[in-house]
Amino acid sequence: MKIIDTHMHTMARTTDDLERMATAGIAVVVEPAFWPGSNRRHAESFFDYFRHIEGFEAKRVGEYGIRHYCAIGINPKEVDDLGLASAVIERMEEFIALPTALGVGEIGFDRITPTEDKVFCMQMEVAKRLDCPVIIHTPHFNKLNGVRRSLEIIKETGVKEERVIVDHNTEDTIAETKKHNVWAGFTMYPITKMTPARTVAILKEYGLERMLINSSADWGPSDPLAVPKAVALMRREGFSEEDIKKVVFDNPVEFFSQSPKFKI
Ligand SMILES: [Zn+2]
Repeated sequence: MKIIDTHMHTMARTTDDLERMATAGIAVVVEPAFWPGSNRRHAESFFDYFRHIEGFEAKRVGEYGIRHYCAIGINPKEVDDLGLASAVIERMEEFIALPTALGVGEIGFDRITPTEDKVFCMQMEVAKRLDCPVIIHTPHFNKLNGVRRSLEIIKETGVKEERVIVDHNTEDTIAETKKHNVWAGFTMYPITKMTPARTVAILKEYGLERMLINSSADWGPSDPLAVPKAVALMRREGFSEEDIKKVVFDNPVEFFSQSPKFKI
């Protein structure tokens, strides 16, 4: 089974991980821009990072037979300095134009502050202009409010719903997300937050249309094999091969093909 992980921070991962991912069938990954854990203080640090994930990381991961794409954006964890955020957003389009960059992400909410709201809207304006795919991060706390406001912002900025992944859904948010024509993402972690078992239970209840699963595989506790493990679990739970393929391959291809740069 060929697998696409729609949200993975491979930069935080070792070559051992890349080898295991390739062995487990992961063929394509998309790396949205992330927060390094401590805040960057200069716009240029963002630009160097965007170039790194777009170029070096695509090549490094590609050497394991895994195609690597990225998305460009400022994570809500890093938007408190509005001047800095504006300076980064001013040049975002230049990096989204690079060959392996598919669109905008990950953007959205962390603590749902007015500044986060403003920077989120500014980045959605870029996405609207480019009519490109967008990956939206939803907050760990107050998640339902974060999802509701994100859906409002999509409407207010006029970005087409089908261009957007509302990511990191849970049992508490999926009903709200499914009221819209956006794509619903689930990020599966080994311990806290959503597990593969909880995600598969939601897929059983809500069906497979516009559903996407991913691992995040960032620098915190996370599992680069979360998606292959969910595939194994779906098989045990009686999903057909065709249905499994829809979630881990066909749906991601349909979503990311909204960028002409996405090739499989
Ligand atoms: Zn992420």
